[in-house]
Amino acid sequence: MNDRDRKQPAEPPSGISRRRLLGGMAAGAAAGAALPLAAPSRARVVSDAPERWDLEADVVCVGSGAAALTAAVTARHGGAQVVVLEKAPVTGGTTAKSGAVLWIPNHFGLRERGIEDRREDCICYICRYAFPELYSPTADHFGVPREDYERIAAFYDNGAAMVDFVRGIGALRLKEWRMWDLDIPPPDYLEHVPENKTPTGRPLAAVDESGRYCWGYGMIQQLESWLTAREVPVLTGHAVTDLVMADGRVVGVLAEADGAVKRIRARRGVIFGTGGYAHNVDLLHRFQEVFVYGSCAQRSAQGDFIPIAARLGARLANLQGGWRTGVILDQALENRAVGSGMFVPPGDSMLLVNRHGVRVVNEHRNYNDRTRIHAVFDPVAGDYPNRFLFMVYDRRTAAIVGENGQPPIRPTESYVIAGRDLEELAANIRKRLAEFGAPVAGFSLAGDFAANLAATVERFNGHARRGRDPDFRRGDFLYDREWHKVWGNFQYTDEFGPNPYPNPTLHPLAEEGPYYAIILAPGVLDTNGGPMTDASARVLDNRGRPIPGLYGAGNCIASPTRNAYCGAGGTIGPAMTYGYIAARHALEERP
Ligand SMILES: Cc1cc2nc3c(=O)[nH]c(=O)nc-3n(C[C@H](O)[C@H](O)[C@H](O)COP(=O)(O)OP(=O)(O)OC[C@H]3O[C@@H](n4cnc5c(N)ncnc54)[C@H](O)[C@@H]3O)c2cc1C
Repeated sequence: MNDRDRKQPAEPPSGISRRRLLGGMAAGAAAGAALPLAAPSRARVVSDAPERWDLEADVVCVGSGAAALTAAVTARHGGAQVVVLEKAPVTGGTTAKSGAVLWIPNHFGLRERGIEDRREDCICYICRYAFPELYSPTADHFGVPREDYERIAAFYDNGAAMVDFVRGIGALRLKEWRMWDLDIPPPDYLEHVPENKTPTGRPLAAVDESGRYCWGYGMIQQLESWLTAREVPVLTGHAVTDLVMADGRVVGVLAEADGAVKRIRARRGVIFGTGGYAHNVDLLHRFQEVFVYGSCAQRSAQGDFIPIAARLGARLANLQGGWRTGVILDQALENRAVGSGMFVPPGDSMLLVNRHGVRVVNEHRNYNDRTRIHAVFDPVAGDYPNRFLFMVYDRRTAAIVGENGQPPIRPTESYVIAGRDLEELAANIRKRLAEFGAPVAGFSLAGDFAANLAATVERFNGHARRGRDPDFRRGDFLYDREWHKVWGNFQYTDEFGPNPYPNPTLHPLAEEGPYYAIILAPGVLDTNGGPMTDASARVLDNRGRPIPGLYGAGNCIASPTRNAYCGAGGTIGPAMTYGYIAARHALEERP
């Protein structure tokens, strides 16, 4: 087994090779080229079922990512006639670009290792992380609204069962995930809170027949081949635009394909797994606190399910949400569908500062939580001082950070700004911002940026020498330290060796330049708000009643774990579990 074979898709893909990353970008671009870029405009709900259908099935699965294909496999295995409709010319959605890591509580691997991931404990952790402002350890449902608690509980109750099911029927190979060459179970993204009683080891990953991690493409291929071997049509180029209703029940869909509208019957249910709205600029402006400049989601993430379900009176929730990551502003302004986010700024002699030249966050916290800092509002300035953050580093970090699935930070990259000293760096950042013009209008560095930056670096260097970061506690947590290695993928040189200071995540920046900076803007892997579902994945109407025949899973619905990225695989785990739940309910229900 060579090095690359042993490397693991980190989550998102820290271990992704540049070749594969570019492949992902190409696939995204290819998909984007032929796609309608806005949600279908012909808004209508057909109230009467047509006399003639173009295609009939028991269960119609819309989308072909993790959520929809898991639903399709579950429904097909249960004996249903299934059809999969995919808008893009290729299958897989954003899942195909992913590391194919799934966060699943109490899975077979934990059980085999004798680790008890207890129901109440795990639900408590998710409630604590997803609803920090409501959470109370002693209150009923941990203080979380009952319906949200039930959705979290259903995730726990069905996650491991879903995994056993897809493995058991040979639809998907999975094994416990280990981060790259580090042979330790990965720490969760909020592993250090006392509520997390199983802080490491919940992530699983898809593998090929040789047991090697197979990434999102491999995962989609396995699920899709299982379906096609059982004669399930997986129809690409079919954009679902509307639902067909009869007697208050969803009984089919309208799909645009080859310029025509097809009427497709769903005797038992329609299950949406159509992804979020990361590339629907109109919805982003309407719902996000600060603009989302870029996303590594596929361009087909247009939030189509939101208007389709809203026309039926669906209740919408978590629309302001997202699975967040920083993106490089220069790249996002060129093409908002970026190949990869800057998930975690890598390196030890590196820090992030805002427009005032001060640090505002622990740079090594997970991408989802860290990126939320961009949306902090300054009530005196009446603006967002962290709208853009500046990743400042020196020659050491530039030299030792290896390929890690994120954009490279080499000084030769066009988005890397350089300066012989910190003052020149500040001036060059200012110049770069001015060059962007309109897209960053209204944002500029504060007058004292350069002076503050010098003071910030000096203070940071003191922390690094002492090995403690009293400002943001960088490196105090297992997550910071272990993922620091993953995102660093350090390749030491004769000049720059392993970090000799007490805290491996902190190293003083050099006393002399050159120094470098990359401008980071708010971005998302995808958004995660939309129609609200119940614990059976049924879409609810405005009165909280299920809309018969309509289900949703994955990023197209209001996320059952809200904005808590529980650990590596925190989006695909719930997406597949809810696809499984939806299909089982559709099979069990008698229309
Ligand atoms: C680089 C990268 C790495 C990642 N790694 C991980 C990871 O390892 N683990 C993890 O948990 N998360 C990861 N994520 C996030 C994860 O990929 C997504 O959150 C997840 O795959 C979403 O799955 P989904 O099934 O909801 O949607 P998608 O996989 O996006 O599938 C939605 C599909 O629906 C189709 N569609 C949209 N509208 C319509 C319509 N009207 N009609 C028909 N079809 C339609 C789309 O074309 C798309 O194919 C990563 C993301 C990125 C970008």
